[in-house]
Amino acid sequence: MQGSKIARRSLLGSAGLGMLAAPALLSGRAQAQDSSKLVINRVTPPDIHQFKLGSFKVLVVKDGMRASGKPGETFGTNQPAESVSGLLDQNFLPTDQFVNSFSPVLIDTGKDVILFDTGFGEAGRAQGAGRLIEGLAAAGYMPDDITMVVLTHMHGDHIGGLMDNGKPSFSKARYIAGQAEYDFWTDGARAGTPAEGNQKAVIASVKPLAEKMTFLNDGSEVVSGITAMLAAGHTPGHMVFNVESQNKRLVLTADTANHYVLSLQRPDWEVKFDMDKAKAAATRKKIFDMIATDKVAFLGYHMPFPAVGYAEKQETGYRFVPKTYQFDI
Ligand SMILES: [Zn+2]
Repeated sequence: MQGSKIARRSLLGSAGLGMLAAPALLSGRAQAQDSSKLVINRVTPPDIHQFKLGSFKVLVVKDGMRASGKPGETFGTNQPAESVSGLLDQNFLPTDQFVNSFSPVLIDTGKDVILFDTGFGEAGRAQGAGRLIEGLAAAGYMPDDITMVVLTHMHGDHIGGLMDNGKPSFSKARYIAGQAEYDFWTDGARAGTPAEGNQKAVIASVKPLAEKMTFLNDGSEVVSGITAMLAAGHTPGHMVFNVESQNKRLVLTADTANHYVLSLQRPDWEVKFDMDKAKAAATRKKIFDMIATDKVAFLGYHMPFPAVGYAEKQETGYRFVPKTYQFDI
């Protein structure tokens, strides 16, 4: 997703969630009028989820969540409106809204503590996002524990947490990013194009870290067991990562598919935030064909938290099969 321009009112933290969470903020007198004791508080604590993958430890943090209206204006933009609402309805989802969550991932290999993407950072806090640091702390990781920060691509919801108050959030880390992605967003040719807004975010958050950055290409290794694959389309240098430890495998699919029903079940449908729509669709099919055929787990940045599952191949696409309690035994 393109996250640099979050519509303030569309975030659960302000509009949707704000209303749901309001009872927690009421005075004691006001609360007393409500006979229910259960306070539905979705604001604290931060959502985190941990599991083992071979000898690696994986921590998923929910940086935030966003509800948006009119699903058909984001997903299936080349389809009749009834097709989009029909598919949502068939999958027990509302037809007038959709939710995205944002899930940066930490992998502790025992030697390195590697963070994949950084959430919204301070830009998202007023809207209830930007909770990565809090989530890491809940699992015992301080920002200085991070030894590497890997960027799957450079949209605002992935790079926003790199800097905080003008300083690097992860002061001990080195950085890893796709060469094609960095080159695209720092190229002067973006001026005056629709990419200009996001370019400003890259200049502010990524460029200051460039001298501590290593650039990856298709097939580059991050550390032993973690390999980058170019998965372009969503952005020109969008990358996914194959993670393997002791014969356990997880593919970090980043933004290859951005909705567990609309993008996975209909990989061909055009998505507003995919910069090259045809290429993104071809990449979606290639990556999820591999995941379905190999029967390996994947973690998608915008999948329903904790964002991990499998993809079962169906006639027109893939069915998302969320991980369950027997995942890491
Ligand atoms: Zn995204």
